[in-house]
Amino acid sequence: MKFVTAAKEGSSQREVRRTFKMLREVWMSIGVEKLDMHEGITVKALLDSGATGMFMDKRMVARHGFKLQKLERLIMVRNVDGTNNSEGAITHQVECNVYYKGYVERMRMDICDLGKTEVILGILWLAVHNPEINWETGEVKMTRCPPLCGGGSQTKEKIKRVVTIEEEKIVR
Ligand SMILES: [Zn+2]
Repeated sequence: MKFVTAAKEGSSQREVRRTFKMLREVWMSIGVEKLDMHEGITVKALLDSGATGMFMDKRMVARHGFKLQKLERLIMVRNVDGTNNSEGAITHQVECNVYYKGYVERMRMDICDLGKTEVILGILWLAVHNPEINWETGEVKMTRCPPLCGGGSQTKEKIKRVVTIEEEKIVR
């Protein structure tokens, strides 16, 4: 991904910056709850439209003892240029409940090495829930969720339906 900033008005030199780093990172402080224990932790999730699905760092999984589910099919991780990532394939998922300001959602996250980041919410999640992002302050509001999601007090049935929708989007 390349970002280009506009030239500064009035400056004698045209200033154009190209970078692989995000210029504005948007983070959500979310609660992640283990399904079997009803035990939650708070983590910072990075919203990343350059990532596909939802990811949890393997060290966070180990540190907090999340229960791993083995994937039936491996997921290959590819770099931006299409080559296979040296980390290898994703082999496991974690199912959890995610909380954010009164919002709750059942989610499956793929486990991989995210470095210092604990959770990444990628374009599949961003496109389904279409959160309202204030690019100036970095504030995220769940105001545009689809009817099935609701983004408030949800019944288990509603959560299940949202999970199904997301699975259909993942399986291609
Ligand atoms: Zn939603």
